[in-house]
Amino acid sequence: MIPAPFEYSSPKTLSDAFTLLETSGPDSKILAGGQSLIPVMKLRLGQPSRLIDINNIQELSYLREADGYLRIGALTRMVDLESSDLIKKKYPIISDTASHIADPTVRNMGTAGGNVSHADPANDLPGTMVALGAEFVAASSKGTRVIKAKDFFVDTFTTDLKHEEILTEIRVPMYAPGTGGAYLKLEKRVGDFAIAGVGVQISLDNDGTCTRAGIGLTAVGPSVIEAVEAEKALVGKKLTEEATRAAASLASDASTPTSDLRGPADYKKEMIKVLTSRALKRAHQRAVGGSA
Ligand SMILES: Cc1cc2nc3c(=O)[nH]c(=O)nc-3n(C[C@H](O)[C@H](O)[C@H](O)COP(=O)(O)OP(=O)(O)OC[C@H]3O[C@@H](n4cnc5c(N)ncnc54)[C@H](O)[C@@H]3O)c2cc1C
Repeated sequence: MIPAPFEYSSPKTLSDAFTLLETSGPDSKILAGGQSLIPVMKLRLGQPSRLIDINNIQELSYLREADGYLRIGALTRMVDLESSDLIKKKYPIISDTASHIADPTVRNMGTAGGNVSHADPANDLPGTMVALGAEFVAASSKGTRVIKAKDFFVDTFTTDLKHEEILTEIRVPMYAPGTGGAYLKLEKRVGDFAIAGVGVQISLDNDGTCTRAGIGLTAVGPSVIEAVEAEKALVGKKLTEEATRAAASLASDASTPTSDLRGPADYKKEMIKVLTSRALKRAHQRAVGGSA
């Protein structure tokens, strides 16, 4: 189908984008990679009055470590997350995730900011960002505020962002050595949305005891789910087979999938158990410096 008519603006600065958002009414929308928004418009599930295209705002496109954080500009493309040597070396959970999102065409256009702002429970980056304990920087003409990942994702297709705010940056804490992460996704065929997905990030002290665990679940609830009880169960323990199995079970308990064309709910719950266990093992290998 063809989208309903809309106005279009392409600001070159953030301050121009803020002005446009404030003056163009509640039905205006930010356009980033267009990989979720344009399909929604073509299906006429959304009919924004104006698109504010942020693709020419160069200051939103970067990937760097600074002041204790990996900083990902909102306009950074998925392909850059997938191919960056820094990410592969120090944040492999993010390259795992990006490489499993859709197909190369979508990854060439789709942005990190768009993937999280869309808040589709089946999108892959939210689970990873929850596991990483990431923060999101929201900016408007009134200033900026920082939102923790666990507060950012409010419900299906709903975030904590206000209409006049633009997500400008995703911040991932730079964890000390002894930290490892992994993202595993079960899909019907390559390039599909997840049947279920699990992001895991763990930190270990010198004797291998877990000091922090983050676990985010994809596509098994109305929004991304943080498996809080599973995280708590790991802290203070070594990642033995028994501890891993117990945490995987708690992660499965935290999931609330529904039955659909991707599978029955009880199958998805079982898959969360399997994926959590495998992701913990891979994260552990990476944390102790082994190949994974
Ligand atoms: C065939 C296909 C398969 C896909 N498979 C997957 C998959 O397996 N896994 C997965 O995770 N995703 C998948 N996607 C979705 C894809 O990853 C999208 O790119 C992503 O969800 C949205 O990013 P975008 O930059 O294209 O955002 P857009 O489509 O431009 O925008 C999406 C939403 O976010 C808002 N937005 C965008 N940027 C900002 C910002 N900086 N501040 C505030 N609001 C903003 C927009 O207003 C809009 O509401 C798939 C898409 C397609 C077309």
